[in-house]
Amino acid sequence: MFSDELKKISWNEIAKIIKNKTNADVCRALSKDKCDIDDFMALVSTAAEPYLEQMAALSHRYTMERFGKTISMFIPLYLTNSCVNGCVYCGFHSKNKSKRTILTYEEMENEFKAIKRLAPFENLLMVTGENPVLAGVPYIAKSLDIAKKYFSSLKIEVMPLDTCEYAELVKHGLTGVICFQETYNRDRYGIYHPYGKKSNFEWRVNGFDRMGMAGVHTIGMGVLIGLEDWRTDCTMMALHLRYLQKHYWKTKYSVNFPRMRTSENGGFQPNVIMSDRELAQVTFAMRIFDHDVDISYSTREPMKMRDNMCKLGVTTMSAGSKTEPGGYYTYPQTLEQFHISDDRSVAEVATAIRNAGLEPVFKDWDMVLQ
Ligand code: SF4
Repeated sequence: MFSDELKKISWNEIAKIIKNKTNADVCRALSKDKCDIDDFMALVSTAAEPYLEQMAALSHRYTMERFGKTISMFIPLYLTNSCVNGCVYCGFHSKNKSKRTILTYEEMENEFKAIKRLAPFENLLMVTGENPVLAGVPYIAKSLDIAKKYFSSLKIEVMPLDTCEYAELVKHGLTGVICFQETYNRDRYGIYHPYGKKSNFEWRVNGFDRMGMAGVHTIGMGVLIGLEDWRTDCTMMALHLRYLQKHYWKTKYSVNFPRMRTSENGGFQPNVIMSDRELAQVTFAMRIFDHDVDISYSTREPMKMRDNMCKLGVTTMSAGSKTEPGGYYTYPQTLEQFHISDDRSVAEVATAIRNAGLEPVFKDWDMVLQ
């Protein structure tokens, strides 16, 4: 399990190594065909900042070689904003007294139809807060059963589950799971996740092993930028990615570096601000480190950033997103998780992608391949 690996890694030691990286380390990393974790640390360090153009060119080259001129499009659907956890940065935390919604199966189906009217999306990401009693595995399984009539690729972003539960959901058509570790800083994790099952760091970080053991086709990882030093957190994620690739080599991986946005929670302010240049830097670093990993940008990121980065390393994007349950058809007035930044229509995003010389792809998977 990855928690055993983490015991051998010191957060402070990694932070120190990154801080001490030099121009020579960056040049060495840029000259290699295959980078290791030491090179990744050089590429995310401040020493790499003057090399951003060179990194962008390399990132572009590797992305074109591996993915061609395509951007895979997906859309999230929030099934519920009900949650028993207390993440201090999230509007869905259980002490927020705002009214909660759990979509009925009929409402869900209306959402699917409304999404289909927006654009020919085939990649659906179903998102829930953590409510194992009212929106647990049976609810998710039934949601997958209904969704597969409308979509060919079904991913979920829900509470971490047991191996057998993931395996059960695969039987219902699940193709991928996205889970954000939020931060790998074990000592400070509890500050952000004070109660509920999410407060158990090991349970969450080992969830990726359980997905791999259950044979989930695609595993999506992410750290929430704004909690801890992003250079160290992203390095930890890169280490985790290498570990998973070694142990679950049949699985496909994606990564995400969502920057924290103001939520309905209202109170929590990011501890760390990542600039657009820094987001570009970590995106290039990840692509140079791993030519095959999917890099995803959601509508949390502003339009200009998304339009620029779709040419330089990003391979998957959402568009037209709503972050409240029923946002596409049923209950547009309910509590949303965070405010999106890029609020263009799907057609506008698709046009921008085409203007960049790329093709937005709405279908890149079929259930028959499962
Ligand atoms: S981040 Fe997820 S688990 Fe935490 S409060 Fe929000 S919905 Fe619940």
